[in-house]
Amino acid sequence: MHPFTYTKASDTREALNAGRRGGRYIAGGTTLVDLMRETVEHPDALVDISGLPLDEVTVTERGGLRIGALVTMAEAAAHRKVRTLFPVVSEALELSASAQLRNMATIGGNIMQRTRCTYFRDVTADCNRRDPGSGCAALEGVNRTHAILGTSDSCVATHPSDVAVAFAALEATVRLLGPDGERSVPFNDFLLKPGSTPQREQALRRGELITGVEIPALPRPLKSGYLKVRDRQSYEFALTSAAVALHVRGGAIREAKVAVGGVGTVPWKLPAVEEHLVGERPSEALWAAAAQKASDGARPLTHNRFKVELLQRTVERQLRIVGGTK
Ligand code: SF4
Repeated sequence: MHPFTYTKASDTREALNAGRRGGRYIAGGTTLVDLMRETVEHPDALVDISGLPLDEVTVTERGGLRIGALVTMAEAAAHRKVRTLFPVVSEALELSASAQLRNMATIGGNIMQRTRCTYFRDVTADCNRRDPGSGCAALEGVNRTHAILGTSDSCVATHPSDVAVAFAALEATVRLLGPDGERSVPFNDFLLKPGSTPQREQALRRGELITGVEIPALPRPLKSGYLKVRDRQSYEFALTSAAVALHVRGGAIREAKVAVGGVGTVPWKLPAVEEHLVGERPSEALWAAAAQKASDGARPLTHNRFKVELLQRTVERQLRIVGGTK
């Protein structure tokens, strides 16, 4: 393993100073330590932020939720407000990783986690994300689990997070603190599609720290949930997934929030599906017609053509689960 220094930040200022000097933030360490052991990542300096006061879930003034970056996945999933206001978030977290990992991993780290593309983790393979300009072994290799949406000629890897799909659907905001102060970035702009620079994965400036994720207030009643389809029922990444939230009043859908995972280079918001739903009355025919739009723009690879239909079926099924049938 590449040698590195380790500092535990005692306050936010100390963390930011170390981050500005190029230190990598670490909290639960469930992704970064793995990648360091595999020599995929080789930071010179680690800054442990696990002692910072970013570990609370709070209701915002407008009735949304703010989840601190250091809240663990298990704590967020079990939190009463998360469960009652946004079950889609709890469900996405509970379907992620293992209980041991959920006890260690944080919300901030979860959305920063790197792809599970096997070529990315194999340092002998060509990978533009790990080694810019080297090529992409997945394009001609085994690409069954790779993306069909948001891909480029440089990279076709999926983003692995489940809860990020829920955040994308709910149009959350990422709260950041950096040398120039605080700022907010819409969640759907925070994770970057690969384009020609797949090594750049988030809209973070040098030294910036994620302080939390804010979910906006949404009209009530709101029904929501997360469906994950995978090769085995436990401890596995999504082949496809769907996060759905619906506000139905007077028999018609007034708000629809839909995003999908396992298929995009980033969590994939589906505005065409949402637009198809709003104003309509829930029905089997509506779910089926809306879900047809889920794979608009898909560019399947040699081994993942099955994801086009699987994605439509996943969205249709989750619309039915959340919206019911008439
Ligand atoms: Fe690397 Fe992306 Fe290609 Fe995987 S898909 S090998 S992460 S460039």
